[in-house]
Amino acid sequence: MEAQGHETFSKLSAAIAQLHTKAQPPEVLPRSTALDNARSKLQPHLPSTGIGLEQTIRHLQEEIAPAFNASSRSPNYYGFVTGGITPAAALADNLVTHYDQNVQVHLPKETIATEVEDRALSLLCELLDFDPTQWPHRIFTTGATASNVLGLACGREYIIAEASAHRTDAENSVGELGIVEAMRKAGIDEIQILTTVPHSSLSKAASILGLGRASVKCIGQEGASHKFDMKLLKKLLEQPGAASIVAVSASEVNTGLFATSGVAEMQELRKLCDMYGAWIHIDGAFGILGRVLTDPKYERIRQACAGLDLADSITGDGHKLLNVPYDCGFFLSRHRNIAERVFRNPNASYLASGNNSDGIMSPLNVGLENSRRFRALPVYASLLCYGQGGYRDMLERQINLTRGIARFITESDDFELLPVFDGSMEEVLSNIYIIVLFRAKDEKLNEQLVNKIKATRKIYLSGTSWDGKPACRFAVSNWMTDVDRDLPIIRKVLQDISEDKES
Ligand SMILES: *Cc1c(COP(=O)(O)O)cnc(C)c1O
Repeated sequence: MEAQGHETFSKLSAAIAQLHTKAQPPEVLPRSTALDNARSKLQPHLPSTGIGLEQTIRHLQEEIAPAFNASSRSPNYYGFVTGGITPAAALADNLVTHYDQNVQVHLPKETIATEVEDRALSLLCELLDFDPTQWPHRIFTTGATASNVLGLACGREYIIAEASAHRTDAENSVGELGIVEAMRKAGIDEIQILTTVPHSSLSKAASILGLGRASVKCIGQEGASHKFDMKLLKKLLEQPGAASIVAVSASEVNTGLFATSGVAEMQELRKLCDMYGAWIHIDGAFGILGRVLTDPKYERIRQACAGLDLADSITGDGHKLLNVPYDCGFFLSRHRNIAERVFRNPNASYLASGNNSDGIMSPLNVGLENSRRFRALPVYASLLCYGQGGYRDMLERQINLTRGIARFITESDDFELLPVFDGSMEEVLSNIYIIVLFRAKDEKLNEQLVNKIKATRKIYLSGTSWDGKPACRFAVSNWMTDVDRDLPIIRKVLQDISEDKES
């Protein structure tokens, strides 16, 4: 069996290596004929006798797969924040399937899997210049949405204990008593999540946790909605009967802007939150990677990421800028004691992990899932393969391309960069991270712009809206990004569309 397993695996590795040396797909979207064909070939019913492995593979490869979009296989796919998949991560992900480790209980005598997960997380801390010993509650999740659920759940547990008669009152636990009783005991009648330009998943997390979407309050400054209105923040924090979680958007998904622009602002937030027993959660799904930058060219981004270590908890995504396959996010928190209060499985002795002196907590008691995929392995592999320098180089290429696109748009007569900034070109570009938001100046063209771009099948980007009008958004996040190769393609697509606007 084992020999056969290895044989299967080496075949698989060869196939993956081949996939990765193949040229990128020429088109970012499938033709409608391929979609129609796949739709007509989709099996309508469960066969009573299976069609067998060979037929199944043929069906998937020849009939279904041609109707997938290029996604991370193409560096010219700029929709969402798709990321890519490094070859190291792809290979490791196939190993994950092959060995099928269930990473829920820490069993150091039986498998190394939980130790690999913990090491991947501490390497990740090193990549992001966080001291791993300061982030003892750490875990891989299914993505940033799940990490935001964890962040708000930990925050909710903490702020209620803080508001109780005895600060950090472990007896008054939402995990034990439920939110209604815990709030009553703490004398709280409102939990609020104070934020600016939040990702939609923050409201979803608030809903899941019984805090309600209405608890999410945007308190941005007028004319700079991504920055906190500090006076308003203070006023809301000091409201009697309210307990607060402050959620910092460390790069907003529409514009790439960061809520804070330096250590001093984070220190100010920290001071206020400590005064009122509030929890600080950072949504750094893709922004947190900005911490790998060192070159002065990226000083604004570096400053915006500085001080994020003053938070209580942090959300990051693996399947975005880390360029590992989908189904991977991470969560870091400073509060080890809160973790088990929220996530512990009580009375499940068959899941007990025994006494371990290595300090590794069983993932099932510190995160959402019990049985879980070994999604740490692709991260471990990719971090080792590229190291800090490799990830820095990747991000620099992504930023350089993004800034190249922003410069082209700013200089063009037909397009307009959003939000509209004052200042010199250099000033404008210095704030650009991996997102470019823009629109066509011609209203009629602007209405159709995103569809016209997609119809070229040369590049793909997301449509969104800004100030009530349609807008387009590039998110550059692929490890293969190459400015010299990719920028001319983008320029040509946009130029052709604008020259064609009269027709
Ligand atoms: C993408 C994103 C999310 C949601 O992440 P998923 O991985 O899709 O769950 C949350 N916050 C921000 C800032 C994001 O960019």
